[in-house]
Amino acid sequence: MFGSTYLREVTTLKLSAGKCTGCGMCTTVCPHHVFVVEEKKARIIDLDACMECGACAKNCAVGAIFVRSGVGCASMFIRKQKHGRVSAFFFRMWGYPV
Ligand code: SF4
Ligand code: SF4
Repeated sequence: MFGSTYLREVTTLKLSAGKCTGCGMCTTVCPHHVFVVEEKKARIIDLDACMECGACAKNCAVGAIFVRSGVGCASMFIRKQKHGRVSAFFFRMWGYPV
């Protein structure tokens, strides 16, 4: 999944660099390597790779990250696991193996 693009220029991900303490937790939890920490500040290096899973925002202790989670393909994967009702068409369209 590394280096993959979710959808271009649609993610709701926002980073408030002023609040960031540089702890690095967002780089640890993000499955798509969207962030790097340089000089004790997080920076978004691949915005379009964000799939809006919400892990970074949930794990940022100072609230420096905002993302409207639960609407992206991560949510679709979870729904598929839970209910088995998501069409394979969408997964193929997003480039995931079905
Ligand atoms: S988790 Fe929050 S405080 Fe820590 S590096 Fe990321 S944005 Fe900064
Ligand atoms: S919402 Fe998920 S994919 Fe997007 S930057 Fe945060 S951890 Fe990474």
